[in-house]
Amino acid sequence: MSICPFCKCDSYEYVDVGIGRVPVAVVCCDLGIMLDSKDKTASKFAWKILQLQRSHSPRKKARAKRMIEQMERDES
Ligand SMILES: [Zn+2]
Repeated sequence: MSICPFCKCDSYEYVDVGIGRVPVAVVCCDLGIMLDSKDKTASKFAWKILQLQRSHSPRKKARAKRMIEQMERDES
């Protein structure tokens, strides 16, 4: 069981393979997927945002929000 720190969802989908249920895929948000990504740049980016979000500074939280918005703009 792995809870995504961003959307608080269980980030794996569980499938019954006969011997029990196994996690097969990450099914949560983009940032949750990036956090686990093999792509170093993507995972570093997601960790950075997580760090900023967990900070007590409102400025850092705002910065994390801007980084996410920027990322969403880049995708579209
Ligand atoms: Zn997520």
